[in-house]
Amino acid sequence: LSESRTLWELLDRRAALTPDRPVLLQDDRTLSFGELRARAERVAAGLYDRGVRPGTVVAWQLPTRIETVLLSFALARLGAVQSPVIPFYRDREVGFALRESRAEFFAVPGEWRGFDHTEMARRLDARGVFEAYDRIPEGDPGTLPAPPADGTSVRWIYWTSGTTSDPKGVLHTDRSLIAGGSCLAHALRLTADDVGSIAFPYAHIGGPDYMVMLLLYGFPAVLFEHFALPAALEGYRKHGVTVAGGSTAFYSMFLAEQRKQPGEPVVPSLRLLAGGGAPKPPELYHAVVREMGVRLTHGYGMTEVPMITMGAPDDSPENLATTEGRPPEGMEIRIAEDGEVRLRGEAVCQGYLDPAQSAAAFDADGFFVTGDLGHLTDSGHLVLTGRLKDVIIRKGENISAKEIEDLLHGHPAVQDVAVIGLPDPERGERVCAVVEQPPEAEALTLPDVTDWLRAEGLSVHKLPERLEVVDALPRNETLRKVLKYKLRERYS
Ligand code: ATP
Ligand code: MG
Repeated sequence: LSESRTLWELLDRRAALTPDRPVLLQDDRTLSFGELRARAERVAAGLYDRGVRPGTVVAWQLPTRIETVLLSFALARLGAVQSPVIPFYRDREVGFALRESRAEFFAVPGEWRGFDHTEMARRLDARGVFEAYDRIPEGDPGTLPAPPADGTSVRWIYWTSGTTSDPKGVLHTDRSLIAGGSCLAHALRLTADDVGSIAFPYAHIGGPDYMVMLLLYGFPAVLFEHFALPAALEGYRKHGVTVAGGSTAFYSMFLAEQRKQPGEPVVPSLRLLAGGGAPKPPELYHAVVREMGVRLTHGYGMTEVPMITMGAPDDSPENLATTEGRPPEGMEIRIAEDGEVRLRGEAVCQGYLDPAQSAAAFDADGFFVTGDLGHLTDSGHLVLTGRLKDVIIRKGENISAKEIEDLLHGHPAVQDVAVIGLPDPERGERVCAVVEQPPEAEALTLPDVTDWLRAEGLSVHKLPERLEVVDALPRNETLRKVLKYKLRERYS
């Protein structure tokens, strides 16, 4: 199946193999592989009737729902170019995405969670607006042209999180998504008996990646439109979820639930937490494994390359806690002289919407330039040490923000922390720690922090010279990643 040329071909083959097995579970609804294929084809016909053709750019800003998956597969069936937009984005980001992608159609959920998306689309002069929450267009599949045969044309425009600058439009093909999903499936060693969950926005690149995994193995996933613990635990228990995933914040939420009932598993069927996409403090790894009695694997990915490395669930605790795992077959990793991680393989994107950005994205050997720093251990495991843009240069010395953050995560009065460099006329930059404290903790002072770090062995030139305590760090909506540029703006 992993040799399928297009996503539609992959669905077609899976539906022929196990038509009656469930693939999507949401609230009281179940969709089988056969139904997914048949209904997506009807939706494709409905879209075709409205004028969507192979190559038409269709943006959609829809929540994690069965209808959204149907619409996305319908677009894949037509060979349209789809550009998913995170549902929480508002005028500024959505306007940017619509303009940059030159979308000819825009699917919205109407009024969703107290916000009128149709009205926003009108404000933005979006073209071809239609609502696709409960009712999605349907038609007679008999009218459809043949599905696309090649999987190497650009059919996806995804948006990076905008952590370091404005979001970039990332170009993917069906093949790059299938390659990414296959790697994920292989790394996690899942089986047809597993039950997964999609608790993140389906508009994130992890959406189709996850679907590829379900199609390859033929197991189902529970979809959450509003994901919040503890409410979502009921869904996990009801459907017997065995593998749950998300970003680092997701593990912390699960752990907090577990701590309310120590010794008794929060979800008895759960055996694996698998996630990635943001740094994971080793203490969190150990706490999850010890207190929840499940395995945890964490991986490295980005919008441009959804799956780069993933910890193997049966790897040693040491490797799982301190590395991002090994690259799967077909993914070449090269560490450049300055420590930057570079990648080559089928799962790598085609480049960016902006040709100037694309030109800068690949080195002379065709390796994709990630902007992340890391090294490979003797056993071939990748250790990430930060971002190229997240290195603080004080008096000409490079200081890794991540090193300081990892140490501060061990401090009992620190819930979360972001370390940033602030411009300094004499030293170039100086180190500033921005700390989120647990509600009951006593307010930290700069000496508390520097004493702690010194006791942990941090060298003096890396010690923060400024401390800010905040109620909540600014985060993006996708993976709850901290937006350091906002902090830099605020405190510079
Ligand atoms: P932008 O490119 O717009 O600045 P972004 O890079 O945050 O935003 P994403 O594509 O969502 O947008 O995130 C990818 C980045 O997330 C990676 O380049 C890396 O810096 C970080 N990341 C991903 N996985 C991990 C991980 N396991 N550990 C640490 N950082 C990670
Ligand atoms: Mg990036």
